[in-house]
Amino acid sequence: MTNWLEEAKKYEAAMLKDLAGWIQIPSVLDEANATKEAPLGTANVDALEYFLDLGKRDGFVIKNIDNLAGHIEYGAGNELVGVLGHSDVVPVGEGWLHGTAFSGAVEDGFIYGRGTQDDKGPMMAAYYAVKMLKDLGLPLSKRIRLIDGTDEESGWRCVDRYFATEEMPDTGFSPDANFPLIYAEKGMLNFNIVLNHNDDAIISLSAGDRSNMVPEDARVEFRCSDNLEVAYQAYLDKHNYEGTFDRNGDVQVLTIKGKAVHGMQPALGINALYILFEFLDNHIESPLINLVQKFLDTDGTKFGISHTGVIGNLTINAGVFSYVNGKFDITVNLRHSQEWDADAGLKTMTTALAPFGAFIENAEKKAALYVPQDDVLIETLAGVYRKQTGDNQELLTTGGGTYARVMKKGVAFGMLFEGTEDRMHQTDERVPVADLIKAIAIYAESLYELAK
Ligand SMILES: [Zn+2]
Repeated sequence: MTNWLEEAKKYEAAMLKDLAGWIQIPSVLDEANATKEAPLGTANVDALEYFLDLGKRDGFVIKNIDNLAGHIEYGAGNELVGVLGHSDVVPVGEGWLHGTAFSGAVEDGFIYGRGTQDDKGPMMAAYYAVKMLKDLGLPLSKRIRLIDGTDEESGWRCVDRYFATEEMPDTGFSPDANFPLIYAEKGMLNFNIVLNHNDDAIISLSAGDRSNMVPEDARVEFRCSDNLEVAYQAYLDKHNYEGTFDRNGDVQVLTIKGKAVHGMQPALGINALYILFEFLDNHIESPLINLVQKFLDTDGTKFGISHTGVIGNLTINAGVFSYVNGKFDITVNLRHSQEWDADAGLKTMTTALAPFGAFIENAEKKAALYVPQDDVLIETLAGVYRKQTGDNQELLTTGGGTYARVMKKGVAFGMLFEGTEDRMHQTDERVPVADLIKAIAIYAESLYELAK
């Protein structure tokens, strides 16, 4: 019987060397320098080629798809097991204490650098898992494909292009999140609420710039014969909010600071426009304010669409507000469990908005990802993870969207271990070398079980 962890340990030096070389390629999206041959910038192509070259070196079949994505394939058989990860990274930020963001330096049992946790480290572990299966000569009846994308952190143009022509795996996982595994991800509904109206009071307003974030700042310019300075200051003081007041005749400008958090948990943040409108509602009359006050919250209660399902509560985030040329436009990101009927929900909201003269535009649905816990894929991966780690914690669900969503049947599987600090997208991103070794062992046995 194979001792997976002992086998994995043999690869430590070689794996660290290959990973450091990969980390040293600054594969941050560089659209300013994009060309036809390098649609995301040259570094992202270099990172993809570096990975594929490892595959070539070690005797695997490789394929580059338009410099956007590519794969390393092992084995024979009709069925395909996929591992989907990425080699692009987010910008580095400032203040790195351990080497530079692209050093790949090993210190005190950690390897440092942008991408060590997200997602070059996990992909390198998966690569060595496949290499181990090959070196051990274990018999498989299915093919295994490591698919590397180069645009996960932005527009997913990599997987769009890849799956436009390449084979969809029958089953698989994405090593781009947490252990044990994420078997369910909420569905998404993006849309705009529009109200065409020339307001008597509000002249201009703005709040937020991304649909998936709770707006941190809001600004409203309006006409009001009363000077609201004292009342506004009292409101700010009462709630401990930060804001500014400005006045020129009867035109007044208020700004306020809320609390920005990810739009998948809007109740943890403070929507800057909501709190500014809450104040203004007592002082000026405006259908724009009425609309927001009447329908918008963080869980759909006001729309009459609140819902709780196997992947948790419905959430609703109004991330961007604008009012230009008499068009009040609210960009909304709604997330829901898989049982919730998005079409019925849209209908309910449309009906509710109609008496206000408001309507929904640009509705775009993304189905939830849900693999039942008794599915063979989940039982296999969770079984290997539990056996190797002794960690029997519950499997996970998320309101966010992982790369696994792209696959017909896939889940996010590691490689952030319980107890390891999550430094993805932060300074001094790092991963314990011991985690990489454990992950090689877990991925190797998992892939063996899926492909044998
Ligand atoms: Zn990632």
